[in-house]
Amino acid sequence: MTVLDVLPIAIGLVWCILIARFVWKVNRSRPLSLTPAASVQVARSGLVLTPAEFHRDVVPLLRSAWDSACFCNSEAFKRLTSFEMGSAAAIADGQIIINEIIRKKFSADGALEDTNFEQMQRYVCPQCGSRCQVFWEQFSIKMDRYYVVWASPPALLSEALFIIGFYGFDPPDQVRGFRRADSIDQFVAALAHGER
Ligand SMILES: [Zn+2]
Repeated sequence: MTVLDVLPIAIGLVWCILIARFVWKVNRSRPLSLTPAASVQVARSGLVLTPAEFHRDVVPLLRSAWDSACFCNSEAFKRLTSFEMGSAAAIADGQIIINEIIRKKFSADGALEDTNFEQMQRYVCPQCGSRCQVFWEQFSIKMDRYYVVWASPPALLSEALFIIGFYGFDPPDQVRGFRRADSIDQFVAALAHGER
């Protein structure tokens, strides 16, 4: 075997290594994408969970509480899901709850309305008949969000609770009217029963 025989294989190997390194670098430099998995602010006080921990520790409690009685009378539930701050940011807790409770437990009412970078689906609560519209907006390939417009809007609580926090292009450090929960029990009770 001569050097000329081995050369194409060697060049091929070098190319493979270069491409693999490039793909690895691109993937590592890519910012975390939207969905409530993204950036999690560091809390100064109160309970902090990552989106994955929220899914593991809080969502099952919310789902079983909802199976006993829907949350439609809870202002905290409506506040968290209808939160829309105008800028390209969102509250991760609300995103997960919209996905897990409204989009999975409510009944779709009519067809999905789809326009450029925005979708809207109407839902009805199968337990009490409350109606809402779930909007989905996409700001970029990495940033989108849901928010809910309730047929009967929530009252303004003094403070609504959250656990994960805000994400987006310009997530606020803190938003007036929201406070980090002290415990999972407190958060679930507020959402399920409107307790403060
Ligand atoms: Zn309901």
